[in-house]
Amino acid sequence: PLILGIETSCDETGIGIVRGRTLLSNTIASSMDEHARYGGVVPEVAARAHLEALTPSIEAALSEAGVGLDELDAIAVTSGPGLAGALMVGIGAAKALAVSLGTPLYAVNHLVGHIAADILDGDAPRLEYPTVALLVSGGHTSLLLVRDLTGDVELLGETMDDAAGEAFDKVARLLGLPYPGGPEIDRAAAEGDPTAIAFPRGLSRASDLAKHRYDFSFSGLKTAVARWTEQRSALGEDIPVADVAASFREAVVDVLVTKALAACADHGVPRLLLGGGVIANRRLRDVAKQRADAAGVTLRIPPLSLCTDNGAMIAALAAELVMAGREPSTLAFGADSTLPVTEIQVGALS
Ligand code: ATP
Ligand code: MG
Ligand code: FE
Repeated sequence: PLILGIETSCDETGIGIVRGRTLLSNTIASSMDEHARYGGVVPEVAARAHLEALTPSIEAALSEAGVGLDELDAIAVTSGPGLAGALMVGIGAAKALAVSLGTPLYAVNHLVGHIAADILDGDAPRLEYPTVALLVSGGHTSLLLVRDLTGDVELLGETMDDAAGEAFDKVARLLGLPYPGGPEIDRAAAEGDPTAIAFPRGLSRASDLAKHRYDFSFSGLKTAVARWTEQRSALGEDIPVADVAASFREAVVDVLVTKALAACADHGVPRLLLGGGVIANRRLRDVAKQRADAAGVTLRIPPLSLCTDNGAMIAALAAELVMAGREPSTLAFGADSTLPVTEIQVGALS
């Protein structure tokens, strides 16, 4: 099926077009620059930016794919989770398109979409089930057991406080680095010693593991970095930014990879899929690769352009739903800012 996907859950206006499992176009307009001076995404600004970017983005995606609106078999849209106002802009556009074109509409889960991005990786062999998936982005840090992308996604664990990307952004600010902090920390860390400072690994003690084996916590780590730098400053010493960045990054990466591989071992699943914007982190990719190889786990990392928020992953998930024979969504759905990952599609009749 030929599907156009609309993604507006955060600050990226993503329009993607797929034919089955083939990516035809993936247009992304970001309002990040407008948020940067506030040090984080401002919901109202994001929603207005989506409104302005949608029509030109849809036109660009169609022309890049070389298809016309009348050829589409379905429209797909993110219905949650995300910023309510931002989601509503995409949902309104998707409903208008579906009604005016008379095409089916699939309202899907953004987080499951991040996993579906993997399907569009033309160079990789087909995704096998079950697979463990680690989703790390600015708003989420979740460990999932995916038995079937279109019908069975189990939440094994998630962050109890900050998301991993959020932790990168907050620690970057602490170190005086600009927003978004992930890439900045990555750059600074390249010159640093990851063993310089022993920062804590959240929820990793034996007593924590009993209840939170697959859960994450990054706020304690952020506080530890803050305390360490404050003490240094109080002593009148310079902050070794590169060492702090490298040691912080190592702590985050260590916990993410350790818990993901524990989930693989516990469930007898030798497959791990990574998704979300934090996958851009070089160290995370490297450590995951090393340790997965050592554990006999096959690691899948979609291309970066498909890891950050985009419309193609939304279209890809809808394509899987269509190919699995799932009914489309009715128009009776809205934005759900806290949609749980287990709800793959919303508004379907049956
Ligand atoms: P969500 O998908 O949960 O709604 P989001 O849209 O904010 O959240 P993404 O766009 O997938 O998430 O990812 C953005 C996050 O990724 C930011 O927090 C950013 O700091 C982080 N990030 C980007 N590049 C890197 C990197 N190299 N290292 C670490 N973090 C990074
Ligand atoms: Mg984003
Ligand atoms: Fe996302």
